Amino acid sequence: MQPSNHPAAHREVSAADALLSVDRLRVSFPGKGRRAPATEVLKGVDLAIRPGETLGLVGESGSGKSTIGRAVLGLAPVTSGTVTFAGRRIDRLSARRRRGLARDLQVVFQDPYTSLNPSRTVGDTLAEPLIAQGTAAGASRERIADLLGRVQLPADAASRLPREFSGGQRQRVAIARALALDPRLIICDEPVSALDLTTQRTVLDLLLEIQEATDVAYLFVSHDLSVVRFMSHRVAVIHHGEIVETGDAATVTGTPSHPYTRTLLLASP
Ligand code: ADP
Ligand code: MG
Repeated sequence: MQPSNHPAAHREVSAADALLSVDRLRVSFPGKGRRAPATEVLKGVDLAIRPGETLGLVGESGSGKSTIGRAVLGLAPVTSGTVTFAGRRIDRLSARRRRGLARDLQVVFQDPYTSLNPSRTVGDTLAEPLIAQGTAAGASRERIADLLGRVQLPADAASRLPREFSGGQRQRVAIARALALDPRLIICDEPVSALDLTTQRTVLDLLLEIQEATDVAYLFVSHDLSVVRFMSHRVAVIHHGEIVETGDAATVTGTPSHPYTRTLLLASP
């Protein structure tokens, strides 16, 4: 291997083993005024996830966590660097190919109140990805019943609207929607941050059960180190748009090597 100061050189996951690999990713947002300089939000981010693995991404609010998820999904302005998924570059995909990728790559956002269409029944919400991928109506009804069972919602949930459910149940609907096409990776962006502590735990347990059953990989984004420690095999720490430390979860959250991670640890219960 070439000697290098770049963190990619120390990475634990080889390119051949990675399901998702983000390499030297830079993202800048234009300044507010016409002459205002652009703000660089991601400054050369490297991370990689193996199939079936959870990589926790932790850092304070505004550090760039969601921007990483959005860049992987093709929703952030990538200045340079690459995103590779299942051996294929996905950072410059056409809209058509991007839609095709939805089969393998899904997302669950923080707030199920805004990510679910309030005027659409749960059944229609779950049918949408199935129908978009060409599943027949009858088969999709069966699939919806199966998905509701997997997230432990009653079968009659299909005919109800999001407002009839609690926050935790809505997040279960969002998880079921993400599972509809049997993805290989789900980006979970603060999936429990809007929930009370007891509900957080039940949703986290559900995500773990699903991973056990399906071998789906998670990019698990949270500002909460204790939640990330509970969920992750490996953890990456982000600070001001740079990954400052990556390693197995016990080491990073127990005996961190970077001073910033130590301050996160002190601030965490
Ligand atoms: P996190 O998820 O870690 O809280 P974000 O990735 O959402 O952080 O945001 C990182 C930084 O990028 C913040 O300073 C935020 O204000 C800025 N940012 C995010 N999205 C945009 C956007 N669309 N336009 C301009 N600035 C943005
Ligand atoms: Mg965020």
